[in-house]
Amino acid sequence: MQYKRILLKLSGESLQGQQGFGIDTERLHEYTSQIKAIAQQGVQVAIVIGGGNIFRGMKGSTQGFDRVKGDQMGMLATVINALALKSSFDVIGQPARVLTSIRMEPIGEFYTNDKAIRLLNKGTVVILAGGTGSPYFTTDTGSSLRALEIKADVMLKGTRVDGIYTADPEKDPTAIKFDRITYDEVLLRGLKVMDQTATVMCKENKMPIYVFNMDVPGNLMKVMNGIQIGTLVTP
Ligand code: UDP
Repeated sequence: MQYKRILLKLSGESLQGQQGFGIDTERLHEYTSQIKAIAQQGVQVAIVIGGGNIFRGMKGSTQGFDRVKGDQMGMLATVINALALKSSFDVIGQPARVLTSIRMEPIGEFYTNDKAIRLLNKGTVVILAGGTGSPYFTTDTGSSLRALEIKADVMLKGTRVDGIYTADPEKDPTAIKFDRITYDEVLLRGLKVMDQTATVMCKENKMPIYVFNMDVPGNLMKVMNGIQIGTLVTP
């Protein structure tokens, strides 16, 4: 396996599958099965899950919600998704635990770095819910923060496109994919891989980012085996 410890960022939207909202249980099961397969090969996996399939603070604030309250609603949405992942792991027999950045026992245990690392060393998948716990951030930034905290070898961003392109490939058919790109180029070109705060944080701390299509079963294992299917972001 190419990596020993990974932070996998999954967007909330990707959990909605074809439905356009909420949680698609088939998609959920596909994801947890892919994760179990690499965990069984000894890869330590921490997951940061988004909440965009349920609620986004920014969108809420355009609809009259206070931004802080809206972001708190968004953070709670990530907890709902985390519980869905946890129950799917339970069904397929992969040990997993939910750690939350906001205290809410018994729904999940309060996150501490030591606890996360202890669980990872035991082969337990750690599902990190609630983002950073603070408003005005996103789960992308939560991912870069936790990736650094747990000393992950890489931050993987599992999306529905197979890497970073010169433009949005779903809108521009002439867009070209990068196999490798620097943080600066991502920032300069304004590429929407992750939000800028998250990208800058990875850049400043030299955390590699790998963007790949998680919606194709088997792709996560390919990344672990060093097969070049996505885009690597490095200094
Ligand atoms: N959020 C927040 N602080 C964080 C992480 C998330 O306030 O540290 C809120 C924010 O409102 C965000 C929502 O939770 O819009 C859902 O997270 P995100 O948009 O990152 O989810 P994704 O796009 O990955 O589904």
